[in-house]
Amino acid sequence: MGPAPVREYDVAIVGAGPAGLTAAYLLARQGRRTLVLEADPTYLGGISRTVSHNGFRFDIGGHRFFSKSPEVRALWNEILPEGMLERPRLSRIHYRGRFYSYPLRAFEALGNLGPLESARSVLSYLWWRAFPDPDPRSFRAWVTNRFGARLFEIFFRTYTEKVWGLSCEEISADWAAQRIRGLDLSRAVLDACRRSLGLGRGGGAAIRTLIESFHYPARGPGMMWEAAASRVIAEGGTIRKDARVTALRHDVATDRWTLLSRSAAGTETRHHARHVISSAPLAEIVPAIEPRPITAERARLLRYRDFLTVALILDIPDLFPDNWIYIHDPSVRVGRIQNFRAWSPEMVPDPRFSCVGLEYFCFSGDGLWTMKDADLAALAVGELETLGLAGRAAVADAVVVRQEKAYPVYDERYREHVAAIRDELERRFPTLHLVGRNGMHRYNNQDHAMMTAMLAVRNILAGERRYDLWAVNEDAEYHEAANEGAAAALASERLVPLRIG
Ligand SMILES: Cc1cc2nc3c(=O)[nH]c(=O)nc-3n(C[C@H](O)[C@H](O)[C@H](O)COP(=O)(O)OP(=O)(O)OC[C@H]3O[C@@H](n4cnc5c(N)ncnc54)[C@H](O)[C@@H]3O)c2cc1C
Repeated sequence: MGPAPVREYDVAIVGAGPAGLTAAYLLARQGRRTLVLEADPTYLGGISRTVSHNGFRFDIGGHRFFSKSPEVRALWNEILPEGMLERPRLSRIHYRGRFYSYPLRAFEALGNLGPLESARSVLSYLWWRAFPDPDPRSFRAWVTNRFGARLFEIFFRTYTEKVWGLSCEEISADWAAQRIRGLDLSRAVLDACRRSLGLGRGGGAAIRTLIESFHYPARGPGMMWEAAASRVIAEGGTIRKDARVTALRHDVATDRWTLLSRSAAGTETRHHARHVISSAPLAEIVPAIEPRPITAERARLLRYRDFLTVALILDIPDLFPDNWIYIHDPSVRVGRIQNFRAWSPEMVPDPRFSCVGLEYFCFSGDGLWTMKDADLAALAVGELETLGLAGRAAVADAVVVRQEKAYPVYDERYREHVAAIRDELERRFPTLHLVGRNGMHRYNNQDHAMMTAMLAVRNILAGERRYDLWAVNEDAEYHEAANEGAAAALASERLVPLRIG
C-alpha cells in the first residue's frame, strides 16, 4: 500500500475571525474545498469572540453590529436567522466624577466644565479656528485645529495616550480623521454671547444624550461566529483549532501552497492548497512566506497595541446604564469600562450580580501585560474605588482576558510599509489574498473585515483579481464611507477599479 494521497484544498484560510469565517462560508457554499486554520485552541471569532466564565460572558471590547453594507447585513441574517437584539447605545465620558456625552456635545461639555474653564475652552477654540496649523500631521495638531488646545487637553489627550501608549504628537492625523466627529462650538459660543447680553438662554441649550441603537447577538458576538463555523462545516468545509500557521511555502513551478501549522503542544502538520486567504497579522505572516519576501523586514516594523480586560462580577446593581464609559481621569490606568448587561441580559446570567469589564491598553511584555491575574484584579478593584463607582466589598469574582494585537498602530511609517508589502505580495503571489483587520493592517470593524473577505472570494471564484480589496475603506475618511462604495459595486457587479503598478 502506498502513502495516503495528499489532500489538496482549493483554499486554505489563516484565521477563524469574522474575515476568515466569512470567506470560508462563502467558499464552502460554492462547493470549494475549504480549510480554516485557527491558532486559538478554544474560541472562534478572533477579536470578535465571546469568552465565557461560569455562565458570565465577556466581549473583547464590546462589539456592536452595525453596517451600511446590505451584503454584510444579509449575511448576518443568514448566519443567525433567529436575529439579533436591537440595543440602545449609551456611552459617555467619565471625567473628574462627571459624565459627558460622547461624541462631545458642546453645551453639555461647557456647562459641566464651569464658567472659567468654559471661557478658556471657547477662547482657545476661536483662536485655533482663526489660526489653524496649516499642515496638521499629528493627532494633536488635527484635533487642536478642530476643538482648540484646551478641549484637546481635557477630552482627547489622556484617553488617546492610554489607548495607544504613544504621545499624541507621535500618532498620525489619519486616525483622528477616521474616528472623530466634529463639534459645533459656534452654536455654543453664540448662546453664551446671547446670555451675557441678557438675551435669554438662546436656542438649542437642551442637553441631548447620545442614544442610537445597534444590533447584538443575545449571547455576544461569539454566537455569530460559532454559528458561522457550524455552517462552514455543514457545507463540507474543515476548521482546525489549535493550528497556528508558521510557514507558507509557495511552489513557483506548480503555483501551489504548502502551509505548516503548529499546535500549542508542538505538533506540526502540513496542508496543501491552491489559494491562501490570510487574516493573520502582517508582521507575523509576511516573514513566514517562502520564498522570503524582500518586505519581510518592513512587516516586522509594523506595530500593534495590545489589550486586556479585567472582568469583575459584583453583587450590586449595575453601576451605570451605559453600554460602556470612557475614563478620562489621568489618575487611573483603566481606559474604558464595559457594562455587560447593557449589551444583553444573557451576558450576565444571574440577576443578583452585575458585571463590568475594566479595559487596559498595553503592549505585550510591558508591566500591565505581564502582571499576574491576581494583581490585575487588585488594580482594577482599586481603580473602581478611586473612580467612586464601587467598593471592593462588592467584588465576588474577577477574570482576566488578554488580546494580543488588538489594534494595528497607525504610526508615521505604517502606510509606506503596508504599501510596499502589498505591492510585492500582489506581484509575486497572486494566489495569496490578504484580508481583515490585522491581515491588512487596517483599523476596521467586523463589517469591513467581512467585506474584504467577500471580495477575496469573488476574486478566487472569478479566477482573476477583479476587485481591489484595498479600496474597501481606503481613504481615511469616516470609516463606513468607503465601504459603501465597495458594497454598491459588489451589489451591482461593477468592478472596483484596480490600481495598476
Ligand atoms: C476593543 C475592540 C472593540 C471593537 N469593537 C467593535 C465593534 O463594536 N464592532 C465591530 O464591528 N468591530 C469591533 N472591533 C473590531 C473587530 O474586532 C475586528 O474588526 C474583527 O474581529 C476583525 O476580524 P478579522 O477576521 O479580520 O480578524 P481577527 O478578529 O483578529 O481574527 C483573526 C484570527 O486569526 C487568528 N490567527 C492569527 N494569526 C494566526 C496564525 N498564524 N495561524 C492561525 N490563526 C491565526 C487569530 O487567532 C484570530 O482568531 C473591535 C475591536 C477591538 C480591539
